Amino acid sequence: MSSVTYFEAQKWASSFVSDHKIDESVVNLLLLGMKNWNLTDLLMNYQQQMPQHEFEKFKDMLNKVYHGWPPQYLLGEADFFGRKFKVTENTLIPRQETEELVEWVLNDFGNNQSDLKIADIGTGTGIIGISLKLERPLWDVTLTDVSPAALSVARENAQRYGLDIKSICSDLFATLKGKFNIIVSNPPYIAESEKYLMDQSVIEHEPHVALFAAEKGLFVYQRIAAEISSYLEKEAVLYLEIGFRQGKAVKQIFQQAFPSADIFLKNDITGHDRMIKVVFHNDQ
Ligand code: SAM
Ligand code: GLN
Repeated sequence: MSSVTYFEAQKWASSFVSDHKIDESVVNLLLLGMKNWNLTDLLMNYQQQMPQHEFEKFKDMLNKVYHGWPPQYLLGEADFFGRKFKVTENTLIPRQETEELVEWVLNDFGNNQSDLKIADIGTGTGIIGISLKLERPLWDVTLTDVSPAALSVARENAQRYGLDIKSICSDLFATLKGKFNIIVSNPPYIAESEKYLMDQSVIEHEPHVALFAAEKGLFVYQRIAAEISSYLEKEAVLYLEIGFRQGKAVKQIFQQAFPSADIFLKNDITGHDRMIKVVFHNDQ
């Protein structure tokens, strides 16, 4: 195929993904992503010629996806909460479940609550803390990660949205200063023994420091429970993403560490345990 319109390129890609058993959504994800278009832009440009070098790049990306590359790493961008974020192989690709965690925090704390101090622990691309800051500009948000490479991506994403956000390289709370009203985290929580449930493309391409945790995936929750108390304001709430089989165990970890806290589990839209909230009381 030498010269193609965008419509023809899309059609070619649809049959490529169908032949190679790749999810159909990859076609538009790549085509729109590489052009920085929305669907309407694509429709309006259907009959335009796609430059040859673009078509070659598009075919190359589809081929890489066939060989296991996540399309978001090829584009260098991913969507989260209606916005684009830079991603690299040093950062986890944002997951849809994590949008529900952000929504939970936003629903609990309305627009009128200002001056809250928030920490996003293990921020990766920065998606949680940055989305919270964009939705609640008066909040004082700090991003942390143990990976300097991830943190530098988070900083770029904060700059992209013109945000003034602190970012600190820290092993959980080790170099964090101050106390917080809201601490939110999507830590690594997958047990080595659960590898068989994962896509090969995740195992091969996403950073293992973002995915795996010792103690059946519970190690970071245990550490958070042991280390968090001196970082809590008088009124403080912790929000965590959890693995779909970890609800009971994570609840128990925090119940034991904070007997008078109120603890709530929440399902994701697929009906699985996916988040937990710990409301601390003044006496803790
Ligand atoms: N918050 C991002 C998101 O939701 O897409 C990334 C979440 S990823 C599952 C976990 C992140 O925690 C990774 O960026 C990883 O580098 C970081 N991390 C792992 N161990 C950590 C630790 N001990 N202290 C701080 N961050 C850690
Ligand atoms: N939910 C992600 C996955 O299944 C992992 C995120 C995490 O470990 N926090 O790949």
